[in-house]
Amino acid sequence: MQQKFIPGIYNYCDRWCERCTFTGHCRNYESTGKLSPEQLDINNKAFWETISSYFQKTIEMLHEAAGKYGIDLVMNKEEEKAYHEHQSFIDTSAKKHLLSKLCKQYQKLILPFLKQNDSDLVDTTRALTQHPDPGIIEEADLIHTVAGMSDCYEIIQWYVYFIDAKLQRALHGKSEGEEWEEENGYQKDSDGSARIALMAVEKSMAAWVRLYELLPASTDIILNALVLLQQLQQAVNIEFPKAMLFKRPGFDG
Ligand code: SF4
Repeated sequence: MQQKFIPGIYNYCDRWCERCTFTGHCRNYESTGKLSPEQLDINNKAFWETISSYFQKTIEMLHEAAGKYGIDLVMNKEEEKAYHEHQSFIDTSAKKHLLSKLCKQYQKLILPFLKQNDSDLVDTTRALTQHPDPGIIEEADLIHTVAGMSDCYEIIQWYVYFIDAKLQRALHGKSEGEEWEEENGYQKDSDGSARIALMAVEKSMAAWVRLYELLPASTDIILNALVLLQQLQQAVNIEFPKAMLFKRPGFDG
């Protein structure tokens, strides 16, 4: 039973479990799959009780490991001050980075568009059903078109914050230094995070291209979104040139 899980697979996936083919090999899916709807609802008390119990278990494991390896987990005042200054420097540098700025521009551009999602779908369905030549739109075509639009919206929506979050992790990891991984022949977490962000960018671009065909009235915003994603893709490849060489556990062998 232990071997069926692929270690760390959930660190470099897109967290879209509904569309994942590795659910049977993912410990994260196994543990969250057993949770009740209340435990998965962020507004429910049961959700926070579950988080709290996980947190408690993690703290206990951390103390056990620290005791085993003789590590003092308590920082003195000077160490704490130096830590906060360092973190603050890293946070500020990441926020000012071109990648963060492009992510914010992309979000600002497309979030209002996504909010219109439902009304666009209704308008398109109405326009198609009221076509002057009723025979020209078959029911199957109509269903296909509306389903296609809905799928594109879903993809774009899923990744809009995900790309930013993964790039923040990549930038933070790079700033904190990954010399140990490099010296010991391990892959860098920052490259893995950048890789999954690049994949999310590509999937978003594919969804926008499909929408371009389905929504001729929205070509301006679609082209602008594609330009920003293209810029983002180039900038990620420059900042993390080895990202696409990163082998994600399970997904890339
Ligand atoms: S690996 Fe698949 S099942 Fe596991 S968390 Fe990621 S998307 Fe979900």
